[in-house]
Amino acid sequence: MTDSSTSAVLDRTGLDALVKTLGAQGRTVVGPTVRDGAVVLAELASADQLPFGWGTQVEAGRYRLVPRADGAAFAHTTGSQSWKAFLHPEREKLWSADRTPDGYLSVTEEQAVSPSYAFLGVRPCDLRAIAIQDRVLTGGRYQDSGYQERRAGAFLIVAECTEPGATCFCVSMGSGPGADAGFDLALTELVDETGHRFLVRVGSAAGDELLSRVPHHAADPGTKTAARDAVNAARDRMGRAMPPVNLRTLMGESLDAERWDDVAARCLTCGNCTMVCPTCFCTTTEEVTDLTGDHAERWQRWDSCFDLDFSHLHGGPVRSSPRSRYRQWLTHKLSTWHEQFDSTGCVGCGRCITWCPVGIDITEEATALHDELAARLRQHQGREPER
Ligand code: SF4
Ligand code: SF4
Repeated sequence: MTDSSTSAVLDRTGLDALVKTLGAQGRTVVGPTVRDGAVVLAELASADQLPFGWGTQVEAGRYRLVPRADGAAFAHTTGSQSWKAFLHPEREKLWSADRTPDGYLSVTEEQAVSPSYAFLGVRPCDLRAIAIQDRVLTGGRYQDSGYQERRAGAFLIVAECTEPGATCFCVSMGSGPGADAGFDLALTELVDETGHRFLVRVGSAAGDELLSRVPHHAADPGTKTAARDAVNAARDRMGRAMPPVNLRTLMGESLDAERWDDVAARCLTCGNCTMVCPTCFCTTTEEVTDLTGDHAERWQRWDSCFDLDFSHLHGGPVRSSPRSRYRQWLTHKLSTWHEQFDSTGCVGCGRCITWCPVGIDITEEATALHDELAARLRQHQGREPER
């Protein structure tokens, strides 16, 4: 049986064994850990490195670690990194070229061997983000072979959300706080009078095989109910929500909105929101040479639609104003992404709100655009916006 109805319970010892077994299988285990005053994603040698006893307080433009008395490992919200840092890295060498003694160029394609990753503690919103990047980077006519290889070998262990942050809005995007499919194993952490434990659900044959190698016991009805209740309680405690309207239509009908000037007056066009976003995928390439000109390399690196150069065509950038660049980003996320990739480009993780240096809030902007559109339609057409 390898579907997500298979469930078991792990304790701390079982979690330790899970990490060790993955390591022994040659996998690079990556998960949350505390470093420099934040929960970051990093390689783990042991489950002891998880952020036991740490939670987070987030708000627009604000992130703080806070100690927790219950010793929970997965009670923090998403940090500035997402799994794209590993599957779709910030910088990647594509090829190098060397001048040969007879004056020709010898070009060598980069053949780096990708690690076989195991991601521990993937939030349901981030699981959805990985599925979105799968469609972007491995679907259609052009595939990213590096991403394809890293993704094909990745083992995904979800940690369902029981402590949403003030900037989270996954419920209104339909991407959390629980996960039903797309993982190898899914954990729900519980700390109560019965003890500190993890309900585990199996989502694949590989997950089933791994679970069989670590100490566990069959899930009891009390643990299953407590896990379901904890996720449902998280659903009711979301910090934010997108307006309950048709966001595609809203963006399509808001191209000339005055709100774009308002947000442009605050936006620094720093691109932080695109860097932290788990679905933003844009890259550019750059060539570097050594001083002699005998060796050159081509690198792919993340790019941002907030960068002036991003839309530079002959004669200058297409989107020269902050207004046009913010509008492009939000409209792509919530509307035109559907036409390109058949889904929204936002999973409601809240990172762009938390890590925006001036606290611009995507849900607040969408709500303001909706209010402006509603007022305009009522006044000029006597109708309400599409919901
Ligand atoms: S919305 Fe915030 S994070 Fe994004 S570019 Fe503007 S200032 Fe930077
Ligand atoms: S747009 Fe913001 S909330 Fe939506 S997925 Fe990206 S970072 Fe998360």
